[in-house]
Amino acid sequence: MPLPAYDNHVHLRPDGEGVEALRRFKRAGGSGLTLVNLPYPHIAVKGAESFREGYELTLSFAEKGRREGLTVNVALGPYPLSFLKLRDALGAGRAEEEMGKALEIAADMVREGRAAAIGEVGRPHFPVDQEAVGASDRLLRKAMELAAELSCPVIIHSEAVGPKEMRSFAEMADSARLERWRAVKHLAPPLTLPEENHGVTPSIPASRKAIREAVSKGGDFLIETDFIDDPARPGAAMDIVSVPKRVKGLTQSGELSEEAVWRCCHELPLKLYGNA
Ligand SMILES: [Zn+2]
Repeated sequence: MPLPAYDNHVHLRPDGEGVEALRRFKRAGGSGLTLVNLPYPHIAVKGAESFREGYELTLSFAEKGRREGLTVNVALGPYPLSFLKLRDALGAGRAEEEMGKALEIAADMVREGRAAAIGEVGRPHFPVDQEAVGASDRLLRKAMELAAELSCPVIIHSEAVGPKEMRSFAEMADSARLERWRAVKHLAPPLTLPEENHGVTPSIPASRKAIREAVSKGGDFLIETDFIDDPARPGAAMDIVSVPKRVKGLTQSGELSEEAVWRCCHELPLKLYGNA
């Protein structure tokens, strides 16, 4: 049986490579991925209903990926930066309300079995004012509460993190009654030790360095590219073939055991999303 190669964070765009990128992924040895919703350039973010339109588009990309023979788990949610855009147009209170409604729409789609996770949600990755931090944290907490009800993962987008931030996400999950491992930190450093991640699942970049460090320390992790499929910025993020390439390269060199590959590219995604 060929080794699995699961990319835990991929975006596709209608004006980008789209499904052709998934074909390249498959040809390189990719087996499955988490397809994460992001605001699409042609859909203006005006309120909760504009998110619904974007979610439907993400779901249609996933369907195409499945037709190519890939496992595709979809994560839906209002991107944290959209709060800032909505606040400019509607004010902070209404912006938070619309973001909250967008979370509920995402949760409905998970409930209906159309999506597998809520994400990416959380905080902007750059410094923002206290009002935005407060609203973002309340929204993340709401996402975790919804995920707890649905027993599904939350994919967290945030500023760069270390053990301290991972601990605060773990505590937020506790207060939302979400099992900690269902909180997945997107773009995490290889914080694989329990005292580093406090039970939150790290999804680490598909770089040799990060994977080597994760493997040497032991513990659970996922691998991701954060492929952005942006025609204006080719090469701005890792290419979509990176996970299968690294899995192959590092198993051939003996740095990654087949057992570790099955763990991060099959068992853990299966545990999180019910599908891998
Ligand atoms: Zn992303």
